[in-house]
Amino acid sequence: MAEVLTPDICVIGAGSGGLSVAAGASQMGAETVLIEKGKMGGDCLNYGCVPSKSILAAAHHAIEGRNGRRFGVINGGEPKIDFRAVHDHVQGVIAAIAPHDSVERFEGLGVRVIQAAAAFTGPRELRAGDATVRARRFVVATGSSAMAPPIPGLAEVPYLTNETVFDLTERPAHLVVIGAGPIGLELAQAQRRLGARVTVLEVARALAKDDPELTSLVLTRLRKEGVEILEGIKISSVSKADGGGVTVTLEEDGAAREITGSHLLVAAGRAANVQSLNLEAAGIAYTPKGIEVDARLRTTNKKVYALGDVAGPYQFTHMAGYHAGIVIRNALFRMPAKVDYRAVPWVTFTDPELAHVGLDETAARERHGEIRVLRWRFEENDRAQAERATEGTIKVITDKRGRVLGASLVGPHAGELLLPWIMAVQQRQKIGVMAGLIAPYPTLSEVSKRVAGSYFMDALFSERTKKIVRFLAKFG
Ligand SMILES: Cc1cc2nc3c(=O)[nH]c(=O)nc-3n(C[C@H](O)[C@H](O)[C@H](O)COP(=O)(O)OP(=O)(O)OC[C@H]3O[C@@H](n4cnc5c(N)ncnc54)[C@H](O)[C@@H]3O)c2cc1C
Repeated sequence: MAEVLTPDICVIGAGSGGLSVAAGASQMGAETVLIEKGKMGGDCLNYGCVPSKSILAAAHHAIEGRNGRRFGVINGGEPKIDFRAVHDHVQGVIAAIAPHDSVERFEGLGVRVIQAAAAFTGPRELRAGDATVRARRFVVATGSSAMAPPIPGLAEVPYLTNETVFDLTERPAHLVVIGAGPIGLELAQAQRRLGARVTVLEVARALAKDDPELTSLVLTRLRKEGVEILEGIKISSVSKADGGGVTVTLEEDGAAREITGSHLLVAAGRAANVQSLNLEAAGIAYTPKGIEVDARLRTTNKKVYALGDVAGPYQFTHMAGYHAGIVIRNALFRMPAKVDYRAVPWVTFTDPELAHVGLDETAARERHGEIRVLRWRFEENDRAQAERATEGTIKVITDKRGRVLGASLVGPHAGELLLPWIMAVQQRQKIGVMAGLIAPYPTLSEVSKRVAGSYFMDALFSERTKKIVRFLAKFG
């Protein structure tokens, strides 16, 4: 029989963003309904962050034997990869985390979970399965999906996306990846290190959202490892290959070329999950990029909020979590909390890692005119030398008074090294704060202190004095 529910808050989508709102709201005592049509945990747990980092972990282990030789450790020849066991490892990590996002856990928190697709039937009402929900507030947290680029023939060939690539139990002989963004390149490196031949096709520039000065190091490493990366090409069509697999016809430097792979992976951007929600019935405006929201994450229907990938503009799990806090304050406490995107961090988990927060050099120049650009290389770091992991750079941007505007790192553990810079950007700290910290020796985090110290060196001192300051920065 049809059921009518009238909770304080109804959340659509049990991914990173929706789960955070539902947990927070119910713990605050709000009557909460959570609707999920697929797997609890959404993309991050099932088809995104968790499986991609798990397969990368396996891939990094795969080359340990090869790397050991530099340290005088010889572990035998090339590693043997049991691809099914790699698959089982990835699924095992998902299974280990899944209880945290499960129906049982959320019902235990007092949330009413409905496992069905939701669609609005009016400005204050939706249907999900047999239930009609009339909530005081709604939150749309429906995420995004792999976008299918308009390539002739693509719809007629079998292709993988992030929703299916982690189901592979056999190594692809030759994986062709369309899209050289973080998702495409993380998976390209993982598959290559696990023994697949990999070709990546990019119509623009690889890792286009990051600073080319730093991305070049990632691309060089991938190419050295045997990943073929073609940039600035035009894909004309895709078709089934005669002997099985898929052929991509493309134009490279004006010349036609065909590449045939055993498997095709499409990682060419994300499309917001707005279809099938019947947003029109609720008066919620959206574009192909996602649902329109104001700084408080309210949609054009003031009773409805949207967050995470479906609202954008940054499609990361940590942003969905950040959005959730803003929505809870606005929707439940009526505190006018607004998003602040000054210190949005992101990391690409290739080896070497690539990490960024705040403004890059171009954006900083546009906004602030006169800026300072500071650089320090990992090869000057003793720990990096000991680890034989010296390929890396930190680049920091300050305004003319030394206030930190942004930071980017490429190198080992770049993602782990980013946090103090997120604080510096968010707190509008002066670079002297970082320069004055005592960094433990020998750690990679000394690169942060050293790059900060270079601000004063370049501005104030002669060459001789610089040497003394370098000494003090290291041992002082
Ligand atoms: C391969 C890959 C790797 C990634 N790696 C990282 C990373 O390392 N770090 C990082 O920060 N981010 C990463 N991301 C991005 C991250 O996964 C997303 O930003 C995050 O999952 C967004 O959370 P969300 O809550 O907005 O949406 P989702 O997690 O996608 O959840 C949305 C949920 O809504 C459900 N839903 C949709 N429509 C309806 C409906 N009509 N009714 C009911 N339910 C519905 C969906 O089934 C889904 O479960 C990665 C993404 C991919 C694809």
